[in-house]
Amino acid sequence: MKGPMMRALSGAAALSLAVAAAPLIAQAPQGPNDADLMNDAASTGDVLTYGMGPQAYRFSTLKAIDTSNVSKLVPAFAASLGGEKQRGQEAQPIVYDGTIYVTGSYSRVFAFDARTGEEKWQYDARLPDGIMPCCDVVNRGAAIYGDKIIFATLDARLVALNRNTGKVIWNKQIADYKEGYSATAAPLIVKGMVITGNSGGEFGVVGAVEARDVNTGELIWHRPVIEGHMGTLKGKDNGITGKLNATWTGDLWKSGGGATWLGGTYDPETNLLFFGTGNPAPWNSHLRPGDNLYTASTLAIDPDTGVIKWHFQTTPHDGWDFDGVNEFIPFDATINGKPMKLGAKADRNGYFFVLDRTNGKFISASKFVMQTTWANGFNKNGKPNYIPEGRPPAPGEGKGKPVFASPSFLGGKNWMPMAYSQDTGLFYIPSNDWGMDIWNEPIAYKKGAAYLGAGFTIKSIAEDHIGALRAMDPKTGKIVWEYKNKAPLWGGVLTTGGNLVFTGTPEGYLKAFDAKTGQELWKFQTGSGVVGSPVTWEQDGEQYVAVMSGWGGAVPLWGGEVAKSFKDINQGGALWVFKLPK
Ligand code: CA
Ligand code: CA
Repeated sequence: MKGPMMRALSGAAALSLAVAAAPLIAQAPQGPNDADLMNDAASTGDVLTYGMGPQAYRFSTLKAIDTSNVSKLVPAFAASLGGEKQRGQEAQPIVYDGTIYVTGSYSRVFAFDARTGEEKWQYDARLPDGIMPCCDVVNRGAAIYGDKIIFATLDARLVALNRNTGKVIWNKQIADYKEGYSATAAPLIVKGMVITGNSGGEFGVVGAVEARDVNTGELIWHRPVIEGHMGTLKGKDNGITGKLNATWTGDLWKSGGGATWLGGTYDPETNLLFFGTGNPAPWNSHLRPGDNLYTASTLAIDPDTGVIKWHFQTTPHDGWDFDGVNEFIPFDATINGKPMKLGAKADRNGYFFVLDRTNGKFISASKFVMQTTWANGFNKNGKPNYIPEGRPPAPGEGKGKPVFASPSFLGGKNWMPMAYSQDTGLFYIPSNDWGMDIWNEPIAYKKGAAYLGAGFTIKSIAEDHIGALRAMDPKTGKIVWEYKNKAPLWGGVLTTGGNLVFTGTPEGYLKAFDAKTGQELWKFQTGSGVVGSPVTWEQDGEQYVAVMSGWGGAVPLWGGEVAKSFKDINQGGALWVFKLPK
């Protein structure tokens, strides 16, 4: 008996088996439950979560496709997202019971037959005119639970659709888009709760993480991530975040930023959610003295109460929009002879952090980019050794004096998720080497208006590349290999038991590399830039690989000189699926 049917017959249903066996067997699977989501990394026949498991390793044990045969990989089919809405396609596909679910630009969801690519249904969110996404109209993926597909929209709503029909089951507002809020991250589902963050750090919003009942969409808890704001649990006050005015002066915390725009990971072992928080608002750091907690940090949150258990700030008093939202991936390793429960994050500020995930204690920070002009490493307490002249100075009356800063605000690594191989023990980081001229300007907060107080121009810093896929050894902080790419890398990474690493390029290729050496083994031209996250699964005894193609995201919008060099990349919107020939 196969998995889904076995599940349908288990638990309460088994009691009535004797009288109701026939109708039960005839039913379609009820859909993934909490245990299935937690087991996603081990179940190779489906992809149920963003990150291919709640820890987001993006690692599959599948090895039918390996270093010896990946050069033979060919398309099984491609499916177009159609329409005129061809913008950045940053989604990771979800694969379940013969269907591939993807989200597309402008808050769309598609269900495709996983064997033929034929469309089953499409859902287009009706977006108001006044949405304010900072960095393209992207979406990074959906969540699946029971009969539902759940995703977040650009007008800061959360929508649950019936996964068989695409019909709306519930639709809830996360926050008010008129204040600058939006949402683009894939939801995380833990213990029957949909856990989401929010976007809008460039508009002086207040970052928050919240949990909703997956069946009804009703709010369970809400946790603002800026000190001074009150959290709630089941409609009641549940304590203030941090300590009022400890690291913010005056009323600045009320529009303090810290958007949790990339979503989070979950570690069942410690029962902790890990969410990154974005830049403090405004960008001009001279207008907000202090560390500005909990911006540019990783937070560990209790999923049962929404209480913050620990925090680690990667860029205290951020003055470069380094954010800090990057995914925190729990992993175990032996450090100095001691087995430890750790977590790793490749931060936009150019450093790869390893922390003790049980308490947030600093273990190490290793530079993973060519250059960091803002700090020269971290001390043993996990505080940056700032380079004072690397901070853009206070502006005075008009535009302040520009300084050159590296990484640029687009980051040593931006949203695009890294992968962690349990075989090689390496993290594969999609990184970029670039800098910017940045200067400060006067600014005052106005609801729903951009709140930067800064200007910038992105610049190249190397002749031959901006993008660099780097294999990082978390135990030594050393780069084991790197692959350099002319255009900035903007897509996620996948690694497999076949000793492979997959990632896409803006030039249009999905590429495969040897996970141990970085040797390029295969590439396929998808017709537009690849900025999505690839996945793999097993179906009908064969291994498949899928990725979204469609150039866009923040680079063409904010890339300055860099964007000009890549202005000829064509837009698109397609799901590509690959396998070995029979
Ligand atoms: Ca799975
Ligand atoms: Ca930001």
